[in-house]
Amino acid sequence: MQEYRTSSPAVWYPNDIAEAWRMKEMFAADGQYIAGGTLLRTWWESGTAVQPRHLISLNRIPGLSDITLHEQYLIIGSQTSLSEIRYNIAAALHAPLLVEACKVIAAPPVRNLATIGGNISSRVGDSLPALLAHHADLLWFNGSQTEAVPLEIWLAEAGTDTDAAALLTHIRIPLLDVRLESAEPDCVCEGECTCRGEAAASLGTRIKRLSAYDKVGRREIFTPSVVTTSVSGQVSDGGRLANIRIAAGGGQTPPSRLRNSEAVLEGRMLGDAGLLFALYEAVYTEFEPVGDVFAGAEYRRLTAAGLLSAAVWKSAKEMGWGEELTCC
Ligand SMILES: Cc1cc2nc3c(=O)[nH]c(=O)nc-3n(C[C@H](O)[C@H](O)[C@H](O)COP(=O)(O)OP(=O)(O)OC[C@H]3O[C@@H](n4cnc5c(N)ncnc54)[C@H](O)[C@@H]3O)c2cc1C
Repeated sequence: MQEYRTSSPAVWYPNDIAEAWRMKEMFAADGQYIAGGTLLRTWWESGTAVQPRHLISLNRIPGLSDITLHEQYLIIGSQTSLSEIRYNIAAALHAPLLVEACKVIAAPPVRNLATIGGNISSRVGDSLPALLAHHADLLWFNGSQTEAVPLEIWLAEAGTDTDAAALLTHIRIPLLDVRLESAEPDCVCEGECTCRGEAAASLGTRIKRLSAYDKVGRREIFTPSVVTTSVSGQVSDGGRLANIRIAAGGGQTPPSRLRNSEAVLEGRMLGDAGLLFALYEAVYTEFEPVGDVFAGAEYRRLTAAGLLSAAVWKSAKEMGWGEELTCC
C-alpha cells in the first residue's frame, strides 16, 4: 500500500478489494472510498459534505475497470468510466439503455473520470433507471465474500442499516437474447461508422426490442436531470408486448420501477387503441418524484408520463405497429 500525503486529506491506494475494505473498517467515519471523485468534489465544494481525513482510492485495484462478456452476463467493473461504457461494443449490444445514459451524463471530461460505481453509489445517478430496466445486480464485497444484490432491492433498502464499508465491485447485467431480438447496436462511433457492420454481421438477425432511455434537464445538453426514464421489453412477431420493465428517476428522486405502468403494457398488442393513454395515466399516477424550486413534482410527473408514452409510440411507429396510435 502507498500513501500520498496532501495537505488534507490523506489518499490511500490499496492493492486489492480486501485491503480497501479493511481500510474503510479501520478509518470508519474518517475514511471514504473515492473513485473518479467528480461527485465528491461537488459535495465538498457546495458544503453538502465535509472532506474526510482519509480517502481510499479504488482506481488502482486490478480487475475493477473491465467490461467482460460471460455465458449469461455482461459484467462491468465498478471503476469503469462512463466514457468507456459509452464506447464499448459489448455494452452497446447488451446494455443499450446504459450506453444511452452514459452519453448524456455530464460532459466528456467529467465522463472520462466519473465511474459507473460512483454514479450508482450516489443512489440518484442518471444511470440507475437504465440499469433497473436491464435487470442489473450489484456485486458487493463485504470483507469476506462478494454478494449479488438486485439493484432494485438495494435501492429500496436506502436509509436502512447498510454496511458502510461494503465495496461495489461489479455490475452484472443479464445478456439480451440477441438471436431472438434486435442485434443491431446503436452506433457508438464519432464520424465514420466502424462498429455496425462488424457487430451486426457477427450476430445475424435484427429484430424487435422495445428499448428507450430519455433524460430531460433544464437545458439541452450538459445538464442535471429533471426526469430520466427507461423502458425495455420484447415485441413478438404479432406485436404483443412481453417482459416489460419501466423505471423513472431524475434530480433527487430515488429511481424506481413503475410496476403498475409495466402491467398496463404487459401482454398487450403494441397497436391497441387506448394503450398510450392508459400508459400515460398509469405513469402519471404511479411516479412519485421529488420536486425542487426549479421543477415541481407535478411537472416531473407530467414529463415522465409524456416521455414514456412517446417512447412507446415511437417504437410502435418504427416497427410498423399502430398506424392509428395517437400520442398525447
Ligand atoms: C459538472 C458535473 C456534471 C455532472 N452531471 C451529472 C449528470 O448529468 N448525471 C449524473 O448522474 N451525475 C452527474 N454528475 C455527478 C457525477 O459525475 C457522477 O454521478 C459520477 O458517475 C460519479 O462517479 P465518481 O466515480 O466520480 O464518484 P465519486 O465522486 O468518486 O464517488 C461518489 C460516491 O460513491 C462512493 N463510491 C464510489 N465508488 C464506490 C464503490 N465502488 N463502492 C462503494 N462506494 C463507492 C464514494 O464513496 C462517494 O460516496 C456530475 C458531476 C459534475 C462535476
